[in-house]
Amino acid sequence: MNNNYCFVCKEKNKLINYKNIYICNNCIKNINNKYYNNISKKNNINYPKYINRILDKYVIGQNYTKKVLSVTIYNHYKRLIYNYDLNKNIEIEKSNILMIGKSGTGKTLLAKTISKILNLPFVIVDATVFTEAGYVGEDVESILTRLLQVSNYNIKLAEKGIVYIDEFDKLSRKSKNPSITRDVSGEGVQQSLLKLFEDSTVYISPFIGRKHPEQNMIPIKTKNILFIVGGSFEGIEKIINYRIKKSYEIGYDSIIKRKKNINKKKVLKYITTKDLQEFGIIPEILGRLPIITYLNNLTKEDLKEILIKPKNSLIKQYIELLKLDNIKIIIKNSFIDIIVKKAIKLGLGARGLKSICEKIFKEITYNIDKKKKPKIIIMNKKKVENILKKNE
Ligand code: ADP
Repeated sequence: MNNNYCFVCKEKNKLINYKNIYICNNCIKNINNKYYNNISKKNNINYPKYINRILDKYVIGQNYTKKVLSVTIYNHYKRLIYNYDLNKNIEIEKSNILMIGKSGTGKTLLAKTISKILNLPFVIVDATVFTEAGYVGEDVESILTRLLQVSNYNIKLAEKGIVYIDEFDKLSRKSKNPSITRDVSGEGVQQSLLKLFEDSTVYISPFIGRKHPEQNMIPIKTKNILFIVGGSFEGIEKIINYRIKKSYEIGYDSIIKRKKNINKKKVLKYITTKDLQEFGIIPEILGRLPIITYLNNLTKEDLKEILIKPKNSLIKQYIELLKLDNIKIIIKNSFIDIIVKKAIKLGLGARGLKSICEKIFKEITYNIDKKKKPKIIIMNKKKVENILKKNE
């Protein structure tokens, strides 16, 4: 006869044996509910529209992607809760995300903001540093080591983290025919990443770069880790346009019947996994990235807003920093206009704003004189031009 009872409620319900400690299904459920209700309250997790509103505070434009992400985060969060309920027998699978957009359009910012909303550990890695296992360079497993490190080595927390892989497009297979050349740097890494994207247990080293045979490896389950990958996918529009043209010629695609209305530069919304495969992403990886979304190039108006509107916009940050030195900064419209104009010329998206502002405010900061009384500095077009001329 079984004499075991639940160590929480002392009842003899349906028991689960965890390392010789018995706990009943009901108690597990109660503990989980309590835990997640707490997290939920702390995070103010709410409906997709609410998540979208938070994203709006930090990210300008990109409405389509924000909507897609809001729903994905909402579902990701729900499945974290759902899958913990042992009475449920349907396993909800996670939805990793692929974001396509030019450099400086907000991909990393969106991923960072998501992790803030979910209050989960988050790491950003650059796909170009990885090599296939066995080659000189960093193994993809180091992603999980980083996640574990930012989780203060709390394995359970790391197993719910979010990973953003930047420059994912640089892993594209260089040769169209997989059987002719085996591409170590790109395709090999994609193959290694598959293991992480899938529901598996990966044994990782607790430290990056150090691997000793006698070292204790740590098992990490990747089932609940959300992977977001991003890249500019330079040239993908050409592939989409070509496919559209082809199917128009064959005459069976209904979207394509309206071909004349399609703006060749704005074809990203018609992207399919076929295009990405053609670009050089292997089908197995695409199968693990069920959500594909795209970011628009930022307009002049977007760039203006980015400078001033987000909760921690660049300008707000500089104003705060200089306030500490008793300097009051007054921003004029002509200042915003000239910075945006110069950023557009640089062609780096919102990244250009930062590099120009850095130049301007570096000069202001350099000239701080502690002995002088509180100061007001008016920032306008003339000021920008003077500073830039001085630093040429
Ligand atoms: P990406 O990952 O697409 O190359 P980032 O997200 O790293 O670009 O953005 C670069 C910089 O520009 C960051 O400082 C970010 O705050 C700002 N930025 C880019 N896009 C946006 C946007 N849509 N809204 C607000 N800030 C943005």
